[in-house]
Amino acid sequence: MRKSALLFLCRAVMVAIPSMVWAQEAEYPIIVVPTGTQSYSFPEGYQTPWDEIQIRVTEKMSPNLFVLHGSKGLDRSHPDASGGRAMVLFGEDGVLLVDTENRQVADKTLAAIRSFTDGPIKVLINTHIHSDHTGANAFFARQGALIFAQENLRLDMINPRRPNGQLAPPLDTDAVPVVTYDYDPTAPGKPAFTFTMNGETVDVIPMMPSHTAGDTVVRFRNANVIYIEDFYRNFGYPFAAQTSGGSIKGMIEAIDLFQTIAGPDTWLIPGHGTLIHREDLLPYRAMLVDILAKVTALRNEGKSLQQVLAANLTASYEQKTQGDTQQSKDRFITAVYDEVQDFPPIVNGRRAMPTPL
Ligand SMILES: [Zn+2]
Repeated sequence: MRKSALLFLCRAVMVAIPSMVWAQEAEYPIIVVPTGTQSYSFPEGYQTPWDEIQIRVTEKMSPNLFVLHGSKGLDRSHPDASGGRAMVLFGEDGVLLVDTENRQVADKTLAAIRSFTDGPIKVLINTHIHSDHTGANAFFARQGALIFAQENLRLDMINPRRPNGQLAPPLDTDAVPVVTYDYDPTAPGKPAFTFTMNGETVDVIPMMPSHTAGDTVVRFRNANVIYIEDFYRNFGYPFAAQTSGGSIKGMIEAIDLFQTIAGPDTWLIPGHGTLIHREDLLPYRAMLVDILAKVTALRNEGKSLQQVLAANLTASYEQKTQGDTQQSKDRFITAVYDEVQDFPPIVNGRRAMPTPL
């Protein structure tokens, strides 16, 4: 071969290798259906039309790790996309599912899974108790899934009384997690256990009380993806579900933990809103710290909840907050107000919070 031809070949290979690597890395995530980012409003008395809601593959994080999410503009609780995201790891070892979507769309969720895999549904991990994440637990247990969750989630689910003393809706015992674990405050970020399935290594990481006292995040090491559930959101203001043991201060701790358990390029998948990286958690952290300090100061001055709500402490964040509504703001400020003084302890996965106004 002539020298010039050889040189050309070498150069071509040198150019080709980095671009092949880039192409492989750049392929994922594939955003199939973007979540809504506009404001939505619903008429008085609006009821979510479950019949109209579709569950689709909305993001592909690797060749065998897909995200499911519901239609936008129909679900009053989650207008950006109905329900909470579910994740599906699939392949010859069967299906590992993270969260289930709502009970009302269980069959559609299964149909969406069946559009890309026939594998048996073996494992279901619950990231927290809310019905948009666990509503189809019983349905998937009957499909054969073994349900994993924090013990606090199980206790919250089986507790027959709500914190305000009202009876909870009747429990379908198939919905209850059968393998549970606890958060260990001496080892934050340590997986409770790790699955090896379908070429992926899956860490099940219990979280400190943050969105609830039963939170779990799920790390897919090879795909470099973590499902971070709802302690962070970028549609509406932060939501610490304190009756289920959540805590605003715990959400700050959760964000700090992510600076070590996620890398700079790790894709973080919230239960709602758009996909992010760990650096996107930092402005959210700053807002939590700022509001916590301001509400603490006002409450220490003896201000009532109504006075603190009237102070409109979130004013400077309104432009930057998608899904900004009065209800979302008031829920956030009320949670901070209730946490900075006389915050009840977690008992059986619950806190006896004052009855909301
Ligand atoms: Zn959610």
